[in-house]
Amino acid sequence: MDYKSFLTRDFKCVAQATEREKRFRLTHLHLIMIIAAVLVISTLFSVFSLDAQAKRHVQSLNGTNNNQIVLPINIPEANSANQNQTTTVTNQSISDILADERWLTVTVKKGDSLAAIFKRHNMDASELHSIMKLGKDTRKLRYVKPGQQLRIRLDQDNALQTLIYDITKYETLAVHRDGDNFVSSYHHKNVEKRFNHASGVIRSSLFEAGGLAGLSDKLTMELANIFAWDIDFALDIREGDHFTVLYEEHFLNGVKVNDGPIIAAEFVNRGNDFHAIRYTDEGGHSDYYSPDGHSMRKAFLRTPVDFRRISSRFGKRHHPVLNRIRMHKGVDYAAPTGTPIRAAGDGKIIHKGRKGGYGRTIIIQHGGRYSTLYAHMSSYRRGIHVGKRVKQGQVIGYVGASGRATGPHLHYEFRVNGVHRNPLTVRLPNASPINHKYKESFTAHAQSLLSQLAVYKETNLALNHQ
Ligand SMILES: [Zn+2]
Repeated sequence: MDYKSFLTRDFKCVAQATEREKRFRLTHLHLIMIIAAVLVISTLFSVFSLDAQAKRHVQSLNGTNNNQIVLPINIPEANSANQNQTTTVTNQSISDILADERWLTVTVKKGDSLAAIFKRHNMDASELHSIMKLGKDTRKLRYVKPGQQLRIRLDQDNALQTLIYDITKYETLAVHRDGDNFVSSYHHKNVEKRFNHASGVIRSSLFEAGGLAGLSDKLTMELANIFAWDIDFALDIREGDHFTVLYEEHFLNGVKVNDGPIIAAEFVNRGNDFHAIRYTDEGGHSDYYSPDGHSMRKAFLRTPVDFRRISSRFGKRHHPVLNRIRMHKGVDYAAPTGTPIRAAGDGKIIHKGRKGGYGRTIIIQHGGRYSTLYAHMSSYRRGIHVGKRVKQGQVIGYVGASGRATGPHLHYEFRVNGVHRNPLTVRLPNASPINHKYKESFTAHAQSLLSQLAVYKETNLALNHQ
């Protein structure tokens, strides 16, 4: 097998912006300026928020403000990024609350529990006990996570009056005192789902193309993760590769709060078309499938290394070790020392240790036929040892230059029945198909999404070409 061909296939990219791209960036600049103006105006508004709350109060008494969730108590806004949700005072004025009560904003620490928080703030453990006894709603308080915030209102004797817990951006739990007891209420904000779409052509890197197309880095990463079994995003991406994505966006009161999942996507890599369709079955389980109903997940990942660390050098990449005398039996991924290395598939560690010129090396056996080898590591992941079972994508070690290596890189080998194969081109075992009872429903769903994708692709790319 000739591995020289893929050793020398370095891709040189001319990262010069065309006129069209410059104009495209100019429109983006305008967009940014408009967003900045909106931000300045909204900041000015928030300065007068006390005044604004008083006005809302009047509105709600008149019964004209029915489209909002009205909580029976005043909830001060937490210090979160999204402050658009309004609450309404129904039975107390703001000045009363500010004068008589204390509001605490408590941020949950690592390893924290509600009991620990109560103790820290000299609150009565028996109050916590009666809150937890309230049932299903307050059970969520057992699962407070680090970084989440609780807002707690105490009276002068440190007795709990109100506890507000934002479970998610959309769900709030409120507990408040009613005489000697507590009552809880659960509030769900209505999330509006909208669809959006984007297309991009890769000029220098996937993330740049994603950004220019209006995708967040997180969505671009999700896009790459969907195709991670078919495309090697470290070595296989070429200038001119392009993608189209249909995805959800979540809105609260007309303001976007989150990107939702990718619904359908197309990625054209070196002329090969890949499509993925998200499908949710009756049980609520979602996954991505090819249009013919095969899972996008396969037995082996194409890139056994965190390619985000590589994409920054996209186009200027060079292979540091070019030993042209010995036949090269694997693929080299040049990456900074410490870049995480991932198990390409589920399997069992059968070797961990120094191995001559390979330096620190791990070999994983995957079932009876396949094995993968990872060499030149700087260190192993803690807890990795011979005999241990690992999951696909699990970090097993970190890129380095141990053994005979002139620079930090991962040397990766793929063997089938003990014979070296080119991991970039080897035919991998087929993925399991969608459950046959969903096949018909899936096919109709996929056809509709594919035709939408085709339309969006045409219009988006035509816009980009103006
Ligand atoms: Zn190598």
